[in-house]
Amino acid sequence: MEVKLLGVTPNPERMPALAAKLTHSSASVDELEKSSEKELSSILGHVMNLGHTSVIEHTCFTFGISDVSRSLTHQLVRHRIASYAQQSQRYVNLKEPVFVTPPSIAKDASMKQAYEETMKGIWDQYNRLLSLGIPAEDARYVLPNAACTNIIVTMNARSLLNFFELRCCLHAQWEIRTLANKMLQLVKKEAPTIFSKAGPSCKTKGFCPENNPSCKWYPK
Ligand SMILES: Cc1cc2nc3c(=O)[nH]c(=O)nc-3n(C[C@H](O)[C@H](O)[C@H](O)COP(=O)(O)OP(=O)(O)OC[C@H]3O[C@@H](n4cnc5c(N)ncnc54)[C@H](O)[C@@H]3O)c2cc1C
Repeated sequence: MEVKLLGVTPNPERMPALAAKLTHSSASVDELEKSSEKELSSILGHVMNLGHTSVIEHTCFTFGISDVSRSLTHQLVRHRIASYAQQSQRYVNLKEPVFVTPPSIAKDASMKQAYEETMKGIWDQYNRLLSLGIPAEDARYVLPNAACTNIIVTMNARSLLNFFELRCCLHAQWEIRTLANKMLQLVKKEAPTIFSKAGPSCKTKGFCPENNPSCKWYPK
């Protein structure tokens, strides 16, 4: 899996702080723009502590995500407050087997071999269908959830906080959890105040939405 931060709203923390200041100020936008970094940084910290997170919707992040499974992207695109562009299996022929192997399978040599043989068999059938003139959009029906894909996603900071609460959780599947943790590391560098407390609900809100006391992170 490769995760790249392709784009960020300029001044990612100043923008929401300005928005927050505007809500409580009679000053013009021109005057507000002259606010000091120190004042805006303090305002942002304050609104984040209060949980008034609508202002951080003004800050967006675009990620380029490569070599993840279709299982992962199926879970990812359930997050509706986001924009996506995904490699098409209608227009791109995946002639070579390109697939993700879950660690639970990879750790056992014989299981891994059986898995890889299954993938090879699937791709043999896929290529056979293509060679018989079946369009890629139909041949792809035999491809597995494991098939690799690339996707670009843009999310605003508020939606990302929700994404991290759900997907950094140990209950989330390993692959999307890995992605969420990589994304969190990237955005923390750009917007440390906004994401200082980001993470799973047990860490941010002190409660477990899965109500799973056997989890090692279950709040005491
Ligand atoms: C561990 C785990 C297991 C899961 N298992 C399943 C499963 O078995 N089956 C399944 O179908 N899904 C499953 N999901 C997906 C889950 O139900 C959500 O669809 C997904 O996590 C997206 O979350 P979201 O709706 O909060 O995000 P977004 O779609 O980004 O929405 C963000 C927030 O906006 C608000 N919102 C968005 N759209 C609406 C709307 N139409 N109406 C009102 N408010 C809205 C809500 O407050 C929402 O929390 C699972 C998720 C996780 C993390």
